Amino acid sequence: KNLKKFFTKNKGFIKKNVEVVKAVDDVSFYIKRGETLGLVGESGCGKSTTGRTIIRLYEPTAGEILYDGKDIAKLGNHDLMKYRRKMQMIFQDPYASLNSRMTVSDIIGEPMDIHHLASGKEREDRIYELLETVGLGKDHASRYPHEFSGGQRQRIGIARALAVDPEFIICDEPISALDVSIQAQVVNMLDDLQQERGLTYLFIAHDLSMVKHISSRVGVMYLGSLVEVAKSGELYKNPVHPYTQALLSSIPIPDPDLTESAKRIVLEGDVPSPVNPPSGCKFRTRCRYAMDICSEVDPVLKDIGGEHFAACHLLDK
Ligand code: SF4
Ligand code: MG
Repeated sequence: KNLKKFFTKNKGFIKKNVEVVKAVDDVSFYIKRGETLGLVGESGCGKSTTGRTIIRLYEPTAGEILYDGKDIAKLGNHDLMKYRRKMQMIFQDPYASLNSRMTVSDIIGEPMDIHHLASGKEREDRIYELLETVGLGKDHASRYPHEFSGGQRQRIGIARALAVDPEFIICDEPISALDVSIQAQVVNMLDDLQQERGLTYLFIAHDLSMVKHISSRVGVMYLGSLVEVAKSGELYKNPVHPYTQALLSSIPIPDPDLTESAKRIVLEGDVPSPVNPPSGCKFRTRCRYAMDICSEVDPVLKDIGGEHFAACHLLDK
């Protein structure tokens, strides 16, 4: 609720010259138990930062993070520990996110150690079980990350996330770095795990085609703001925000679900700097519908019915 995450950067040696990067700028949304919320947007739009902030890998600058109704934004380390176990993360780069000096067994066992979940034989059995769960045999346990392919490493990352039996997993572009042929396997596995374990996902991706099949609902971010959220089917059929329409039109595969208006939009120019975002609607510098009010008033996310929300002044017309 109204989540903000700002980073400050010192430019040069002059202390006065401090830049504030508004990575996440007043974002509100909900995720229901057992569903997958897809979160998409161009790189630098704040989707990873949103994910990391809601599980407190980053400290929020402002706002509330309600988990089962409890605001975990301000919890101290001791109280946070209980929630850390419920919330895990799968990272984008399966090469960088596994410690190359640790065996697979230690990588998967480490979160169990941190949370004092199992030791000795029980710990070992759980590690073997997790390896089976992600489709790697237990004979892989004593090997090192460099001995595996990207897809296999991502499976190890998933096993590590599952080691503490979490409820909620943030999947931060888990397939973006993988070969196309492997992507579907990993998505299907995440889907199966969700059914079996009742998991809830926030699934981050940079394009809409990647989240289409796994998401119950999809949110679209632009320059630190959430501009549209809707049920997956609805968003692809009836996008109302000009940015969502542009993103959909950039999907290379012809998609019969796309509306005629979405097919025609081409997005020009780059995303402006989050240090100096445009006044009013941040998308106005690239929006072909921009009106006078768009530079003056920042549109708020409006409920347009059927769990469809969008932030655009066109909705007032
Ligand atoms: Fe375009 Fe204005 Fe809507 Fe922003 S508020 S998306 S500039 S029409
Ligand atoms: Mg990212």
